[in-house]
Amino acid sequence: MQINDNFCKLPGSYLFSEIARRVAGYTGEHPEAALIRLGIGDVTRPLPPAVLAAMHAAVDEQGSAETFRGYGPEQGYPFLREAMARYDFQARGAEISADEIFISDGAKSDCGNIGDLFGPGNRVAVCDPVYPAYVDTNAMAGRAGEYDKVRERWTELCYMPCTAENGFTPDLPDGAVDLIYLCFPNNPTGAVATREQLKRWVDYANDCGAVILFDAAYEAFITEPEIPHSIFEIEGARTCAIEFRSFSKTAGFTGTRCAATAIPGELVRGGASLRELWNRRQCTKFNGTPYIVQRGAEAVYTAEGRRQVEENIAYYLSNARTIREGLAAAGLKVSGGVNSPYVWVGTPNGMPSWDFFDLLLQRANVVTTPGAGFGPSGEGYIRLTGFGGAEDTAQAVERIKRIL
Ligand code: PLP
Repeated sequence: MQINDNFCKLPGSYLFSEIARRVAGYTGEHPEAALIRLGIGDVTRPLPPAVLAAMHAAVDEQGSAETFRGYGPEQGYPFLREAMARYDFQARGAEISADEIFISDGAKSDCGNIGDLFGPGNRVAVCDPVYPAYVDTNAMAGRAGEYDKVRERWTELCYMPCTAENGFTPDLPDGAVDLIYLCFPNNPTGAVATREQLKRWVDYANDCGAVILFDAAYEAFITEPEIPHSIFEIEGARTCAIEFRSFSKTAGFTGTRCAATAIPGELVRGGASLRELWNRRQCTKFNGTPYIVQRGAEAVYTAEGRRQVEENIAYYLSNARTIREGLAAAGLKVSGGVNSPYVWVGTPNGMPSWDFFDLLLQRANVVTTPGAGFGPSGEGYIRLTGFGGAEDTAQAVERIKRIL
């Protein structure tokens, strides 16, 4: 028998295991150290009360024969697809209808599973630094070539550097590519793309027949009114883009699990409707997101739910601001944190990411995420997040300022 030996080419998931190893080593020697974790990518605030109430009511429905629901539609219940179409897209001038939205259990699964629709020979472009799931899922599908340990790159991927020089939004690739992963607001840099920048990508993709896979998992953190929340706010995107949405960071669903993928009816490649292919894929391999969870997600769009979600987001953004302003005042180069929970911080005097990580761990007792773990262009940076508690965040910033 043959296994999919692309899996054997994957390097170990080094970043978070190496962080855990270094933290355990330090706390083993210094059990008294009160560490503050500013590297976390998970939310910490509980689910909004409106979501909880809707989920409790749905639990009760499942306990009675009259209201019990078994398998639901693989695409998601119409009540949630319609709410998303109305509030997430149409209210912002993005022409997406309920039947172009597919509810799922996570943007991570959708970002990976979408690869089922595309052949192994397609050339894939990713940002550098990058959310690792885009890279690893393409490697598993055989689209990434071989992993070059020295250059820390896959031989067949097109890497688009996101650097201080280009404001952490990538330039168009030199050669032709078929699939382009874009993520704005970005993890890890916290950068956003303007309407003009996204229009250039849409025009490029329509010209060469590429497909943009747009990850909008952090759109709820956008505060600047002119920044688009959806690629479908850009003219021409309906013929070249797929968008991923998630309730994880928006509404605290990281442990509850609900997300969605939007694929316009006009998106056709190789004579096939990608919306129809995704529908076929989901009906074959996915049996739907739990009814109780979808009712909880629906409550995010009520007046109460929206207010509660906004409060949580404002809390995380206020932490991000504490980090951004505190570290900038200490003389570090700081970006992100305005339309994003992520703050991207240049290391002092170009110190390697892992050295700065160790310094902050050992001297300030603050845990961060080294930028080098997200790709070669992340070297010289660390990622901090606003997902912690307000007091801890303020204290961590004070500790960092003291040692710099
Ligand atoms: N996309 C990006 C850019 C992320 O950072 C994350 C989670 O950290 C996800 C997707 C995953 O979202 P979900 O919880 O919906 O799977």
